[in-house]
Amino acid sequence: MLVMKFGGTSVGSAERFLTIVDIVRKTSEEDGAPVVVVSAMSGVTDLLIKAAQEAKDRNLDAALDVLDKIHEKHKDCIYTLFQQSSIVDELVEDLESHLNKLDIILRGVSYLGELTKRSLDAISCFGELLSSLILATLLKKKGIESKWIDARTFMVTDNVFGKANPLWETTTAKAQGTILPELADNRVVVTQGFIGSTANGITTTLGRGGSDYSAAIIGVACEADEIQIWTDVDGMMTADPRVIPDAMVLSTVSFQAASELAYFGAKVLHPLTIKPAIEKNIPVRILNTLKPDAKGTVIADEGDADQPIYAIASKKSITALFFSSLNMLMSHGFLAKVFTVFDKYRTPIDLIATSEVSVSVTIDNTENIEPILENLHELCETRVMHDVAIVSVVGTHFRAKSGIAGRVFDCLKDINIIMISGGASDITLSFVVSNEDANKAVKQLHDHLFQKVK
Ligand code: ASP
Ligand code: MG
Repeated sequence: MLVMKFGGTSVGSAERFLTIVDIVRKTSEEDGAPVVVVSAMSGVTDLLIKAAQEAKDRNLDAALDVLDKIHEKHKDCIYTLFQQSSIVDELVEDLESHLNKLDIILRGVSYLGELTKRSLDAISCFGELLSSLILATLLKKKGIESKWIDARTFMVTDNVFGKANPLWETTTAKAQGTILPELADNRVVVTQGFIGSTANGITTTLGRGGSDYSAAIIGVACEADEIQIWTDVDGMMTADPRVIPDAMVLSTVSFQAASELAYFGAKVLHPLTIKPAIEKNIPVRILNTLKPDAKGTVIADEGDADQPIYAIASKKSITALFFSSLNMLMSHGFLAKVFTVFDKYRTPIDLIATSEVSVSVTIDNTENIEPILENLHELCETRVMHDVAIVSVVGTHFRAKSGIAGRVFDCLKDINIIMISGGASDITLSFVVSNEDANKAVKQLHDHLFQKVK
């Protein structure tokens, strides 16, 4: 059994909905009825949050204008998809009954001038409810038996509004009880990503971008064979295709490597959201709705051990900090003191390189750099370099192989390497160069490493 999650752009227009019908039909024929999890139409969650903010600021008219926009967007989509008036009437009635509830909530928020996280969840859940209604109806119209299920009937969460966590035991039992009988009768289940409810029936959301997480939770609960994340890119790539036009799609990536790549802006999906699936050994496949026949990328526990290097990633405009203190020669506690300051100012450190009396780090978030440097001045000499870039070679089992570092640096002889960090993980070798050199380094590495690896 498959769980297929379609993101916001995959349900972004009437045309996209029709593409999904074709994809779901093919899967149903080949693998049996799947569970289809949908996001809100692209931009709709943002609009809902905007309406909520306007209401909170007591701009009720502005909030209701946003509501109108949401209404129009879905109505346009419905009229484009369905010509038959009885279906249109029924669907528009459903749409309006949901939007009437939203209208009431917005008026309440505006009356009080107060927006709790709980109220925000009650508002932001509507995008997924509406997109899933349209899809379920469309599947039926196209001759595919489907059942719309409100995810709040099985996705039971704690009450951390805005970032709720599933209560696994209850959710598993309920998801199996509501979803599996439908699939057994060969009905496609259409449900919502992102939303859930507390045990008392109060609506919650799993956090922005939470539909991937929903798909993983449903996949684990119903013991799916595979979880598919349908999006608008081909999968994870050997490099950023904007920098390397001939970058290739990766067929298999380990979960750990996917996490490293995500830091470098491969915003295909947030790997933590699929962690439960990986832990249960359910592969997660990333696929492109616009190229349904392409194989995409599979993220699995182990990845492809035969492929030593997966990708070259880079992240520009980060800051490198260099600390050194001669007093620290042969003594202990220097690193602990340095890291305590970063901890105090809640600043994550990304790369580190150390020597006996010095330590260099890179940071992404420079919000508290002033107080950090002030604190550290007492302890050591400090130097700051802004606007540098991390370049990272991501692969598998680096520690067990010889020659990786040699191959990496061999092709970078003309580039000034500011700092190197390797060996911390078994799957990355990272270094820092100037922003200007970053693309050149990625290109030279990609040319050199992939032509030899292949
Ligand atoms: N619609 C939600 C959001 O935009 C959830 C999702 O798309 O995954 O954050
Ligand atoms: Mg989204």
